[in-house]
Amino acid sequence: MGTALNQKTLEAVVAFHGHWCPGLAMGVRLAELALCEVGHCGDEEIVAVAESDNCAVDAVQFLTGCTVGKGNLIIRNVGKTAFSFYRRRDGKAVRIVPRPQPEEQSDAYRVFQVRSNAGTLSDDERRAFAELRDGRARALMEADLESLFLVGPVLFDAPPHAPMEPSRLCEACGEKVMETKMRLHRGRALCQDCFANRVPRS
Ligand SMILES: [Zn+2]
Ligand SMILES: [Zn+2]
Repeated sequence: MGTALNQKTLEAVVAFHGHWCPGLAMGVRLAELALCEVGHCGDEEIVAVAESDNCAVDAVQFLTGCTVGKGNLIIRNVGKTAFSFYRRRDGKAVRIVPRPQPEEQSDAYRVFQVRSNAGTLSDDERRAFAELRDGRARALMEADLESLFLVGPVLFDAPPHAPMEPSRLCEACGEKVMETKMRLHRGRALCQDCFANRVPRS
């Protein structure tokens, strides 16, 4: 039993993210499980907390409707592909974590990853790595959700609702800034960048 999503939806996710990759596949499957656990954000207010800022986040945003821009997807980047989902209506909250997959921990995969990042793969190696990644993405799409993920309790309470705050103009650069993000310097309200330089610009 693999993915329950249709081809058109998957193509839309790929178009949103820009490419197909194992990280996106992981996010797609994790989002499927989140939809089973807490439903779509359009139906009721769901807040998600992501523990990384990797490819999986885009799939989760696209499929669950929790987005950074709406303020109901919060990135708390500790470098883990793990997500917590909070449903405000009844307080249901789950943390979804991928089960470690042996092939991802393999030395070959890690060495390929490091050398790919460094840009030192030969053409043959690049093809081999692409094949590994394709296989990994395919396996993710075909697997049972239960075999891929652990669902457990959340580590923290739901983050507080953060409404839009009023803005005003920075007294140095003249750009509009959310008031709560400003800093006071010698009686002048400054944006954080002007505050950091502490040099009034004209
Ligand atoms: Zn990607
Ligand atoms: Zn400024």
